[in-house]
Amino acid sequence: MQTAHALDVLRTQVDRLRTGGATIGLVPTMGALHQGHLTLVRRAREACDHVVASIFVNPTQFGPNEDLDAYPRQLAEDAAMLEAEGCALLWAPTVEEIYPDGFVTNVSVREVSEGLCGAARPGHFDGVATVVCKLFNQVRPDMAFFGEKDFQQLAVIRAMARDLDLTQPHVLSIIGVPTVREADGLAMSSRNRYLSPENRAAAAALPQAMKQAIAAIEGGGEVGAALAELESELLGAGFASVDYAALADATSLRPLTAFSGAAARLLVAARIGGTRLIDNMAVG
Ligand code: AMP
Repeated sequence: MQTAHALDVLRTQVDRLRTGGATIGLVPTMGALHQGHLTLVRRAREACDHVVASIFVNPTQFGPNEDLDAYPRQLAEDAAMLEAEGCALLWAPTVEEIYPDGFVTNVSVREVSEGLCGAARPGHFDGVATVVCKLFNQVRPDMAFFGEKDFQQLAVIRAMARDLDLTQPHVLSIIGVPTVREADGLAMSSRNRYLSPENRAAAAALPQAMKQAIAAIEGGGEVGAALAELESELLGAGFASVDYAALADATSLRPLTAFSGAAARLLVAARIGGTRLIDNMAVG
């Protein structure tokens, strides 16, 4: 596996991979890799001739009081994991390479960015959309792989790619990969390592309470009551607060107050011991 830290090196390496018309799958990450990320790499390997993974802790998607400085960075360990999965090229740019002096452009996706995590983390999805747009232009992949773990992010990227015509001829398709979970159901996340052993054990209440809420909603129960019960289950299990617990249309992410049977999504963000966890599951 080659590693590029500068854009001119990346371009040379990508051109080399493309020789003979080979296809490229891109897996963007912020590093601190776990089996969720590696599942994206495996999916990309199955679908494309070569995989390019990126590791970039993107400062513009962190709010002023968020965990940018504390976010785990372990490039050598991550590179070894990617190499073992057969990744061909690691794109690990510096902040200056992505945001050189004088950088003034912002990609902002309205509507789908606005509720849920967008409301709780102002500017977050602008940071995500801007950096992913740059990654698409830098690597020009045939396919790009994102986790459903970050369901709203996936919806924002799909909308951006459609609206900015990134899907043709460059990124042919954006693939959403189902969430990979720990044995007790907790969605894998680089932030799970912030949890104390007690909070890690208590965090399993999140997927459990979500499953109960989904069973209630699918069984015809009132949506508001199911969400209120979910919130009280989380607070009872040791969560400090719930940023949101919402039923939303699975495509537009507009909130739903009743379940019609059409594809919907339950999305939750909640804090435990100072760590903000997010999860989402299909309803219907
Ligand atoms: P991150 O490094 O957290 O920005 O995540 C990089 C990519 O991995 C994103 O597309 C995430 O949605 C995806 N991802 C993170 N955690 C998981 C998981 N547990 N299962 C599947 N994909 C995931």
